[in-house]
Amino acid sequence: MVPEVPPFEGKLQFIRKDVPFRAKPFPMAAVRLLPSIYYDAQQWNRGYMARLEADRLLYTFRANAGLPVGSAKPLGGWEQPENGQRSSELRGHFPGHFLSASALMYASTGDKDAKSKADYMVSELAKCQQKLGGKYLSAFPTTWWDRLEKGERVWAPFYTIHKIMAGMFDMYSLAGNTQALQVLEGMAAWADEWTGSKTEEHMQKILTVEYGGIAETLYHLAAATDNDRWARTADRYHKKTFVNPLALRRDELRGLHVNTHVPQVIAAARRYEISGDTRFHDVADYFFWEVTTARSYVTMGTSNAEAWLAPPRRLAAELKLSVNTAECCCAYNMLKLARHLYSWNPNPGYFDYYERSLLNHRIGTIRPKTGQTQYYLSLSPGVWKTFNTEDNTFWCCTGSGTEEYAKLNDSIYWYDNEGLYVNLFIPSELDWKEKGFKLRQDTKFPDSQSTTLTVTATRPGTLTMRLRVPVWLKSAPTVKINGKVLDASAAPGSYLTLRRTWNVGDKVDMELPMNLTVETMPDDPSIQAFLYGPLVLAGDLGGEGLTEAHIVGPNMRVGAPRAPQAGSNLPGQPDPFPMPDLEIPTFQAAGADPNSWIKPAGKPNTFRTTGQKRDVTLVPLNSLFDRRYSVYWQVS
Ligand SMILES: [Zn+2]
Repeated sequence: MVPEVPPFEGKLQFIRKDVPFRAKPFPMAAVRLLPSIYYDAQQWNRGYMARLEADRLLYTFRANAGLPVGSAKPLGGWEQPENGQRSSELRGHFPGHFLSASALMYASTGDKDAKSKADYMVSELAKCQQKLGGKYLSAFPTTWWDRLEKGERVWAPFYTIHKIMAGMFDMYSLAGNTQALQVLEGMAAWADEWTGSKTEEHMQKILTVEYGGIAETLYHLAAATDNDRWARTADRYHKKTFVNPLALRRDELRGLHVNTHVPQVIAAARRYEISGDTRFHDVADYFFWEVTTARSYVTMGTSNAEAWLAPPRRLAAELKLSVNTAECCCAYNMLKLARHLYSWNPNPGYFDYYERSLLNHRIGTIRPKTGQTQYYLSLSPGVWKTFNTEDNTFWCCTGSGTEEYAKLNDSIYWYDNEGLYVNLFIPSELDWKEKGFKLRQDTKFPDSQSTTLTVTATRPGTLTMRLRVPVWLKSAPTVKINGKVLDASAAPGSYLTLRRTWNVGDKVDMELPMNLTVETMPDDPSIQAFLYGPLVLAGDLGGEGLTEAHIVGPNMRVGAPRAPQAGSNLPGQPDPFPMPDLEIPTFQAAGADPNSWIKPAGKPNTFRTTGQKRDVTLVPLNSLFDRRYSVYWQVS
């Protein structure tokens, strides 16, 4: 036997060599959303972002730099400044997210107010950076770095710095703010000096404290400025105990904090793209496959009390360990990772995953109208959805939420030299300027079961359109061009390729017939969830006893009944908002086919169990708010 050598041994050497992409997403400015559930989510988020004042977002940065804070009221929650006993060591993270979200919102809608507010923040943050010496920029003092260096307790300073750096990069790359690039280069120089003064062994110890995706931003910066210095800095942020097993295709994820590690894998993906080093490719490829097939619930959410607590494929056991399942940041970051993998290998399977997560975990976790978002999408029986407060919460997921719902147009259409891919069924318009080609997608999917694509501008010549045929279809769908049924179609889980000379007014209709299916837990087939097409169904268990105080609040409570807490909630704390006891129904299936006992209930995507001791109405999880629900059921 040849002894195994860990793939990542010794110091990394960075040599720039860009890997050609096989598919690219259209720039966000080329795609606009039309009225839909996605458009609503974008607008609710836009409203929430507009209500947050720039001077409040800047408060802790100015205070930290010794600049006047004016009459602004500081933010609370995880943005709380030094104030007696209460302060948050994560302060400054949300304003970083906010810059990213503003840049994304500007790119996806052209919102000039969002851009000018974020431009103002960049210029004010630049003043804070100047006051602090021209490089370092944060909302907390440098003494925290001494604590990190000495191995003393401190809450994730690199994680927070990354959010600000990412915000600056997004403001530069998506909103054309060149001052943001200068600020970022200063921060990157500070990070280079700080990390460069440590031995590799010392850095590996430092990396046991959450540091998030800082390497990703540094690789982006290296690529954007053609300066390898930033990539060499980024190379110091690979935790070898994490990446070595992944590159060997080994799941050693149990016990790890999920959202600390997904961004590290996104950084590995970006490293591969600008160096061609296949070790990083393998890390990203295996990690994605393992998490999505062995560690994700039916919604495609992953994590439990922020961690992976059980061995792979033991999700029924995992679900019992905490009510805090499926952190929203994890879903956000896994979708980002999926985009990298798809660009290397445009396999429609990545979009089967993407669609399931987007429809069930992302669309369902923003509160209608207020735009407030969730921390966890709990899948424990009898829970309800909870949301952040207006200005007294600022969880990590509040930050990634503002980004998510500002970029819902970024993955619908992709392109290569042959033509375009239609990957998601979302009402939208595409303007492909280089080709003079415009396309409009009209659909009420998933409330209707078809989509229509209309060519609204074109130039002479042929162009290929590839339509994703979702894996959840039972058979090849009927496709019509200009009302005539095509002889050809394509199997579920592939692309239907249409290569032709397109004319203005050409219409493609694709049927998307949905079916009721059951998904069982890998380690307990009696624990089951139900889907209609890609929609995860939840049983409506009523709203008795639920008040606004249960639903919106600064805590991460997700509701009774409380399972033993493995994670962050303190044991034995009295619940200030008790809920009535709730008996969770169990089911006896009349047959293996769920259609034998779960019947349509007259409204779109709505069903009702039949023949049970207590029957339950099942609706899409993404449409259920202010009600208690269950997704997984005991079925015999
Ligand atoms: Zn989070």
